Amino acid sequence: MKPRLLDLFCCEGGAARGYADAGFDVTGVDIEPQPRYPYTFHLGDAASWPLDGYDAVHASPPCEDHSVTMGFGMADRGTGWLLPHTIERLQSSGLPYVIENVESRAVKAHMPGAFRLCGSAFGLGACDSKGQYRILRRHRLFLTSFPVAVPPCTCRGQLVGGIYGHGEQGANGGRGYGFAADSAREAMGMPWASRDGCAEAIPPAYTRFIGEQLMAHVLPFAAAVSSAAQPTTTEEAS
Ligand SMILES: [Zn+2]
Repeated sequence: MKPRLLDLFCCEGGAARGYADAGFDVTGVDIEPQPRYPYTFHLGDAASWPLDGYDAVHASPPCEDHSVTMGFGMADRGTGWLLPHTIERLQSSGLPYVIENVESRAVKAHMPGAFRLCGSAFGLGACDSKGQYRILRRHRLFLTSFPVAVPPCTCRGQLVGGIYGHGEQGANGGRGYGFAADSAREAMGMPWASRDGCAEAIPPAYTRFIGEQLMAHVLPFAAAVSSAAQPTTTEEAS
């Protein structure tokens, strides 16, 4: 049996694919229908979705630069509320967790100790419309409940591209080169996704890398739960 991972604010499943590749049974939750999501999907409010029955949780709350996805009755709160709410909720859950967001000053303030991943560390990229290869520069911050060995970013000074949507800005405060749909899918490693889905996602390579390290922290947890439920005869004798 695979450990179960709950994927909150899942969109089209970029993060999900990486965790599935790392060996997790993934279930996604999003407040908008996601017909392209490749795993079990529940339509609902990820800010309050129950965590019971899962061995680990990933959350990508929509950031202030994204189109705001809010729960019912929270129209005046926005994502400035959603990210700290999610961090507090997962930290108090006792479950191993991964929280992801864009690299911005506001996000850094909410996620001290977060580490950054870049497509350059995973060989991600695609050719642009002129046939020139560009590295996928997609800096994302991750806050985890367990230590992660982080590969260095090597995109500086390289020909880079990105996938931008909903007002997100590229390098140097402006929009850098944005991949067209097919190149975006190739660079992200998300052949099933729409262009907008790619713009909202993190590459599966990121979460596969994190997921393989997360697995070491989930399995002892799962083993402890199952041994508590079924005491062995040795334990009964002692
Ligand atoms: Zn980089």
